[in-house]
Amino acid sequence: MSNDADELSAVLGQTVTAFEQALADQSMALQSQEIGTVTYLGNGIARAIGLPNVQSEELIRFPGDRLGVAFNLDPGEVGIILLDGSDALKSGCEVQRTGRVLDTPVGEGLLGRVVDAKGQPLDDRGLVATLERRPVERPAPAIMDRAPVTIPLQTGIKVIDALIPIGRGQRELILGDRQTGKTAIALDTILNQKDKDVICVYCAIGQRSAAVAKLIAELRDRGAMDYCIVVVASGESPPGLQYITPYAATTIAEYFMEQGRDVLIIYDDLIQHARAYRELSLLLRRPPGREAFPGDIFYIHARLLERSTHLSPKLGGGSLTSLPIVETEAGNLSAYIPTNLVSITDGQIYLTPELFQKGILPAVDVGKSVSRVGGKAQLPAYRAVAGDLRLSYSQFEELEAFARFGARLDESTRQTLDRGRRVREVLKQDAYNPVPVAEQIAILLAVNQGLFDALSTEQIAEAEQIVRQKVTELLPDVCQRIRSGEKLSEGDRKALLDAAELGLEGMRKDER
Ligand code: ATP
Ligand code: MG
Repeated sequence: MSNDADELSAVLGQTVTAFEQALADQSMALQSQEIGTVTYLGNGIARAIGLPNVQSEELIRFPGDRLGVAFNLDPGEVGIILLDGSDALKSGCEVQRTGRVLDTPVGEGLLGRVVDAKGQPLDDRGLVATLERRPVERPAPAIMDRAPVTIPLQTGIKVIDALIPIGRGQRELILGDRQTGKTAIALDTILNQKDKDVICVYCAIGQRSAAVAKLIAELRDRGAMDYCIVVVASGESPPGLQYITPYAATTIAEYFMEQGRDVLIIYDDLIQHARAYRELSLLLRRPPGREAFPGDIFYIHARLLERSTHLSPKLGGGSLTSLPIVETEAGNLSAYIPTNLVSITDGQIYLTPELFQKGILPAVDVGKSVSRVGGKAQLPAYRAVAGDLRLSYSQFEELEAFARFGARLDESTRQTLDRGRRVREVLKQDAYNPVPVAEQIAILLAVNQGLFDALSTEQIAEAEQIVRQKVTELLPDVCQRIRSGEKLSEGDRKALLDAAELGLEGMRKDER
C-alpha cells in the first residue's frame, strides 16, 4: 500500500516538474512596442507623437503596411517621410517602430528587371528572386580601399572616348539644358557595354513614366536588358521614394562591384532628386538656404557619388563608374546644384542647345567639358592617336570664331580650319549607334593623316563607314590587339592607314 503511494507521489512529482518546465518554456516575456499617433499628414510627409526612442532613419510602419522613414527627431515629435502614397492614411492613425533601417534586395536575380527602391517589381515578371537585402544607405569605401582609375570605360561615342575619356571607377557628370541629348549619351554608353562584362544600372528619378517606358523599350529592343537593372521612381512617386531611389540603386550596383565586377550606374537626373529633397525639407520645416534648398544639399549628393570607386585588388578590384545627369536652365552652369555636382565629380560633359540646333550631334561643348582622369584612362593605342587632339580642336574652334569676321586668312590658317572642320564632321555621331574602339582609332588616324582632306564635308559620313568596314574586314587581328590594350606598332598604324586608303580609293572610283 505504502509502495503504491510512493509510486504515485513520484509520478505526480515528475508530472509537476514537467508541467513547470513547460510553463517556463511557454511563459511570454513582455515586449514593449512603441506605437505612436500621426498628428499631421502632408503631401509626402507625416508627423507623429509617441515614439520617444525612435532613431534617425529608422523605418516606420503605417497601417496597411505602408512605410516611412524617420527624418526629423524633434523633442516630442518625429517628422517622417513617406515612401508610399498617403491617400488611404488619416491623421490620428497608429504608427509603429520597426527597429530597422530601409533596405533593398540585391543579387543576380535583379538582372534584366525593372524595380523600385524597395525592390518591388515594376515589370510583369513576378517577384524578384534574391536572397540578400542590404541597407540603402551605406558608407563609401575608405581611401585605402581604393585603387587608381586606369582602365577605360568605352562609351562608343567618338567625341567622348577621344577627348573626354572616362575610366572605370570615375564619376563624370553629364549636364545640359532640356532636350540636348543627355539621356542619349547615357543610353549609348549602356549599349556599348554589350558583351564587355559590365553591368549597367539605370536609375530614373522624377521623370515622366512614358519617357522611362520608352527607354526600357529601347534597351529591350537592342538586347541590352540582360546586363541591365532599371531602378525607377517616376515623377508621380512620393518625393520620399524619389529621394531614396539613387541610394537604393547604388546599393544594388555595389553588390556586383564587391564581387569584383565592373558596374556602370546612371542617375537620370539629380536635379529632380534635389528638388524632391527640397520639397521634403520644406514640408518638414528645415531652414531653407540658397534657391530654397536646405543646407545639407551638397552632402546628399557627395555621399551618393563618393560610393563610386575602383576598389583595390585586395577587395576584388571591382569598379563602380557613375554618370550622374543634371539638367541646367538656359545653360546656367553656375546654378546651385550644377556647380555642386561639378565640384563633386571627376569631370563633366557639357551639352548645349546651340550645337544641337546646328546639327552637331552629340552636342558636346568640348571647351567646357573635361575629364579629370584624362588620358590615363585611355587605351595606349588610343592615347597615341588622340594625343593633342583636344588642344588642336579647341584652337580650331577659337580660330573659326575669329575667321567669321571675314579676316583674310593665310594658307596655314586655312589648312588648320579645313582640317578642324573635318575632325568635327568625323566626331558627329547618331544616337544609339556606338562605334567600337578599334574603328574609332582607324577613323581618327585617317583624318589626322589628311586622308579626308580631299573630300567635301558631306562625303565624310560615307567615307567613315567605308573606313570602318575595311578595317574590320581586313585587320581583325589588329582590332583584337587594340581591344586587349596593346600599343599600336608602326606596322599596325601603317596597316590601318593602308586599309583606310584602299576603302577611300574604292569610293572615289565608284563616284567616277
Ligand atoms: P530631357 O531633358 O527631356 O531629359 P535629354 O537631354 O535627355 O532630354 P534626349 O532625350 O537624350 O535628351 O534627346 C533628345 C532628342 O534628341 C531625342 O529625340 C534624341 O533621339 C535626339 N538625339 C540625341 N542625341 C542625338 C544624336 N547624337 N543624334 C541624333 N539625335 C539625337
Ligand atoms: Mg533625359
